[in-house]
Amino acid sequence: MTTPADHDHKPSNFLRQIIENDLSLDTYAHRRWAGSPGDAAHHAAGQPDPAKIRTRFPPEPNGYLHVGHAKSICLNFGLARDYGGVCHMRFDDTNPEKEDTEYVNSILDAVQWLGFGWQANGTSHLYQASDYFGFMYRAAEYLVEAGHAYVDEQTPEEMRVNRGDFGKPGVNSPFRSRTPAENLARFRDMRDGKLADGAAVLRAKIDMASPNINMRDPAIYRIRRATHHHTGDQWCIYPMYTFAHPIEDALEQITHSICTLEFEDQRPFYDWLMARLIEGGLLASPPPKQYEFARLNLTYVITSKRKLAQLVNEHKVSGWDDPRMPTIVGLRRRGYTPESIQLFAERIGVTKSDSWIDYSTLEGCLREDLENKAHRGMAVLDPVKLVLTNWAEVFGSEAYTEDCHAPVLPHHGDDQPAPALRHFKIGNAVWIEREDFAEVPPKGYKRLFPGNVVRLKAGYVIECTGCVKDANGHITEVHAKVIPNTKSGTPGADSVKAKAAITWVSVADGVSADVRLYDRLFTEAQPDAGGKDFLASLNPNSLQVVSAFVEPSLAAALPDQKFQFERHGYFVADRLDHAASKPVFNKVTGLRDTWGK
Ligand code: ATP
Ligand code: MG
Repeated sequence: MTTPADHDHKPSNFLRQIIENDLSLDTYAHRRWAGSPGDAAHHAAGQPDPAKIRTRFPPEPNGYLHVGHAKSICLNFGLARDYGGVCHMRFDDTNPEKEDTEYVNSILDAVQWLGFGWQANGTSHLYQASDYFGFMYRAAEYLVEAGHAYVDEQTPEEMRVNRGDFGKPGVNSPFRSRTPAENLARFRDMRDGKLADGAAVLRAKIDMASPNINMRDPAIYRIRRATHHHTGDQWCIYPMYTFAHPIEDALEQITHSICTLEFEDQRPFYDWLMARLIEGGLLASPPPKQYEFARLNLTYVITSKRKLAQLVNEHKVSGWDDPRMPTIVGLRRRGYTPESIQLFAERIGVTKSDSWIDYSTLEGCLREDLENKAHRGMAVLDPVKLVLTNWAEVFGSEAYTEDCHAPVLPHHGDDQPAPALRHFKIGNAVWIEREDFAEVPPKGYKRLFPGNVVRLKAGYVIECTGCVKDANGHITEVHAKVIPNTKSGTPGADSVKAKAAITWVSVADGVSADVRLYDRLFTEAQPDAGGKDFLASLNPNSLQVVSAFVEPSLAAALPDQKFQFERHGYFVADRLDHAASKPVFNKVTGLRDTWGK
């Protein structure tokens, strides 16, 4: 099995092969790094780059990160870590309309929580693309002067029609033959606010007949009067993503620019732009290269910030950190650990073709991570009272209680030190699961029914005698007799054979708790595939809150502490709502995979 710790045994993939090949060929060995992002001259004056490779994680700060981003974070930071490189944390904040500082902080938190950082070689590699607006403008002027870009003043509709389509080559714009001097003057008019929003765009001059529509003179700058969260009203023109992104990579001396498959058709433009700006002496060589991998699609989950925002804004969930949300804050509150998410990213690997990963894979990683580290405890989620009717007779008083204990973690073999223990009391009444008693036992039933003998786990062996019902026939109490001298761990405890061991919590020291039982948020495996209305398949039963009883060691949990509730699965003390006086637990997942069963 691969864990995040043993890098040497990681399965290879096409990206690892590309990097290993580049390292063996010294493709990037002679680069220089000036200690901060910059143009060719800036880096030429710097030191040989101490980083063998540079990758980047470049989110747009327009929402909270989700499990798909987690894959990208683990991939980019993980490759840099494994190959002596550095991964840059970069906010791709070139689009002024949708961005917000609230998201910036949540994104930084998410990356750090997942176990990664951007400090390396004494430098904080935390960047924002809007800091490069000045260079981007200069690069655009260079393209204009070199005859590689022109200001197009066709209407958006004319531009759309003249772009052509798959089967039809595009038609040159009447503005395409303007001289560099005319274009420069007009581009400066754009910058200086002399043209209305949408009245003109700057386009790269490439080939209107290219079979790749992205190469048919793509727009690289547009006019948009919008206040940017970082640069304010300094600019009324903004670079297009396809122009901005390669430049961001190049200024930061990125070597391997890893993105999702939908950008594959943009790669020729990426390379075209790099070549032009290196020719002009603006960017250092060798340029970064773009590689595409398949995005994560997870069954029963939506991975689109826009759609997740809709769930929040329409109050379908309690917020971005609702434990049913696939956001990193949601997964965290649900009880997922950074290690389990890293393991998941490692296990699903990277491929070149789109596929769906089963949600149970993510849950399996969580179980694997928590199996040996989550403390055990007993909780009764659907309680009914069990009264030990001979208690006073055996122990001298109804009020008498006795200490019991059990290991906090399962004990693995005699060569290990004695396990730490948790303590709880047993008295004349305990809470048991309602399903652990049957007045008339179904075939093969081994738990409580009149005449049957079972063990209260880590406590006494008892013999069931019957039950009490209310006027409606609803069982209000189960009755049993305690069998003396059978307490677990005492001499002769096993002299009476029990048919089963059941979990319980004492009425004497059990603490009442709210336990939130979660189910998948959607009833369909691919809730938004093919443009489907994902809100139509929201699961109305995705949250059920039960009043449970938990043993004292669970009530004393720290917020965010994970447990295995014996027989029920993995639970976490809610980060925000849990208190020792009023415990609140979230169910992370069951003990075994029950999906589709
Ligand atoms: P969304 O559509 O949810 O807004 P996005 O791709 O627009 O996602 P960005 O903030 O631009 O979000 O993404 C930052 C990085 O995360 C990008 O490099 C992107 O490729 C990667 N990423 C986003 N979604 C996924 C996914 N489902 N699987 C893998 N990587 C992803
Ligand atoms: Mg995006």
